[in-house]
Amino acid sequence: MEKWKTLGYYNGVFGPLEEMTVPMNDRACYFGDGVYEAAYVGNYRIFTLDDHVDRIYRSASMAEIEIPCTKDEMKAVLTEMAQKLESPEQVIYWQVTRGTAMRAHVYPDRSVKANLWITCTPKAIVNAYRKIRVITAEDTRFFHCNIKTLNLMVNCMLSEQAKKAGCEEAIQHRGDRVTEGTHSNVSILKDGVFQTAPTDNLILPGITRAHLIEICRRLSVPVREEPYTVQELMDADEIIISSSTGFARSVCEADGRPVGGKAPKLLKALQDALREEFIADTGIDPGLVPSGDS
Ligand code: PLP
Repeated sequence: MEKWKTLGYYNGVFGPLEEMTVPMNDRACYFGDGVYEAAYVGNYRIFTLDDHVDRIYRSASMAEIEIPCTKDEMKAVLTEMAQKLESPEQVIYWQVTRGTAMRAHVYPDRSVKANLWITCTPKAIVNAYRKIRVITAEDTRFFHCNIKTLNLMVNCMLSEQAKKAGCEEAIQHRGDRVTEGTHSNVSILKDGVFQTAPTDNLILPGITRAHLIEICRRLSVPVREEPYTVQELMDADEIIISSSTGFARSVCEADGRPVGGKAPKLLKALQDALREEFIADTGIDPGLVPSGDS
C-alpha cells in the first residue's frame, strides 16, 4: 500500500495534505459552518473511534447538518485513511461541513450535500504523566459549547494567551464557575471525589472525560458532575486536563501559583486505567513509546 507523510481527504479525493484544495464556497470558509472530531491513532488504530463517530452524528444533528454517509461508512473511510499514513502514531481529524453554496446566512437547499473532510498527520504520543501549567481566563464563548462546531475563535485567542504566558492550556470560567479548557475538559480531585462540570450547553461532552467517569465508577471513586468554582479549582488536590490527544494530564501551576499534587496515588490510578484502555484498543503501550512531550 502506498504510504503518505500527511494526508488530506475531501469528498473522496485524497492526497498530500499540503497540496489539497477545497472550494471557496464550502460553508466552512465563510461561517465555520460544520462540526468536527479529532482522535488519536496508535498502531494505525483509531482510539475510541465509535465514541467519536457517535458524537459527530450528535453534533451534526444539533446543527441540522445531514451527514452524507452511514456511521459504518464513516468508520471505514477513517480507518482506511489512517492506514495510508506512514506514521503509525497520528492525529486523525475530520469535519462535516454544511455543503458548498453561494454565501448566504440561511441554509442552502436540502439538495446540497454536506462535505466530508479528513486529515491525517503524524503525532508522537504524549507523555500522559507529565504535569502542565495553565492560566485561567473568562469564558466568553457562545452558549452552544456542547456542539463540536468549527467556530473556535475564542478558543484560539485563549490558547494563544496561554502560550504567551508559557502555559499549555487556558482553563475557562463563566464568572466563578469553571467550564472547560480551550481544547480539553477540566476535572478536579478533592477528598477522594472526582468532580467535573456537568454536560450542559457550557461544555463539550468530552470522550476522555466520559471514560474517566467510567473508570472512577469501576474503581469505586465517587463522581460528582456538578459545577465548581475557580477557588475550588485552585484548592483541589489535583486538577486534571483531559482530551483525546492529551489523555489525562494533571496541572502543577495555574496563573503562576502551584496547584494540585496532593492526591498523586489516585491521579496515577486514573491515568494508568486510561492507559490500559489505550493499550487494549491499539495494542501498544504509550509508556513504552519514546516520544513526545506535548
Ligand atoms: N472541550 C473542548 C472545547 C475540546 O475542544 C475538547 C477536545 O478537543 C475537549 C473538551 C475534550 O474532548 P475529548 O476528550 O472528546 O477529546
